[in-house]
Amino acid sequence: MKHTNQVFDNVLDLVGNTPLVRLNRITSELQGNFFAKVESFNPGQSSKDRIALYIIEQAEKQGILTPGDTIIETTSGNTGFSIAMVSIIKGYKCILAVSSKSSADKIDMLKTMGAKVYVCPAHVSADDPRSYYQVAKRLHEETKGSVYINQYFNQLNIDAHYNSTGPEIWNQTEGKITHLVACSGTGGTISGTAKYLKEQNPDIQIIGVDAFGSVIKKYHETREFDEKEIYPYRIEGLGKNLIPTATDFDVIDEFVKVTDEESAHMARAIAKTEGLFVGYTSGAAMQAIKQLGEENRFKKTDQVVIIFPDHGSRYMSKVYSDKWMSEQGFFDSVNVHTAEKIQY
Ligand code: PMP
Repeated sequence: MKHTNQVFDNVLDLVGNTPLVRLNRITSELQGNFFAKVESFNPGQSSKDRIALYIIEQAEKQGILTPGDTIIETTSGNTGFSIAMVSIIKGYKCILAVSSKSSADKIDMLKTMGAKVYVCPAHVSADDPRSYYQVAKRLHEETKGSVYINQYFNQLNIDAHYNSTGPEIWNQTEGKITHLVACSGTGGTISGTAKYLKEQNPDIQIIGVDAFGSVIKKYHETREFDEKEIYPYRIEGLGKNLIPTATDFDVIDEFVKVTDEESAHMARAIAKTEGLFVGYTSGAAMQAIKQLGEENRFKKTDQVVIIFPDHGSRYMSKVYSDKWMSEQGFFDSVNVHTAEKIQY
């Protein structure tokens, strides 16, 4: 943990070493002990600070980046914020191609942090020239002295978590962790953390969380890309319409799928029960734990670590807006079991 009596040279010294917080009420009906790795304690309020800092410092070490150069990335917002933050401190320009699914708050934040932002349509295929992948690629080709972070296809994304998130969780649980539950977007968080943890104890169960509308779970089970799995969904940062090489499928034991609606109610329930104001995917990961718990997958002595990737303030116009929730029809359903069981 960071010490309050310590003085830091700049915000980048505050990246990582996030707290592990016991969950007390939201899991009260489940067997086991549950701990959240609360990544909103990073200075950029998400786990993406870790990869932005790590990847940029690796490029510096290899002599690829010099001050004044440009860093380019595709991002659902969090990675962009982190790259923008690191760029400010280290003196780089930052260009971001973001999905139109990203909240207006996130886009405004990126601009505030000095980034140049290109908003690209969310529901086009990855090889469409309008997609944020293709736009970023083109900008990289057109911009002299630029580095493309390419988080979905960069092994350093895995290494960042192998070198930080994994050891932190192992030390914080004193090696007693039995399960890791984490959302998979690029897959970097779950893959790097899992790789480190499995090296310490191969029995630790690694459970990925995927969205309905994403190909990831099916690919893990069949190693085949099934286009029929792909359709629009609302959660940002979870699941994918392509197979990222930053996901190491071999270190993940299984994937659990969660709905937009139940994840949204769960995110709101985490705030009301634990006083932790976290993002939409934290709700998704918590929903996965509920589903597994209801299948009696955890024992009383188990130590389950769940990753809460970012802060709730980034979703004020979405999950934490009653207007948005009712527009999605999320208050209409009589059968939202999370909402019935948890009075929030
Ligand atoms: N939650 C949020 C809010 C995210 O932005 C991301 C990253 N896209 C994830 C979870 C998943 O993390 P990873 O990319 O490391 O799989």
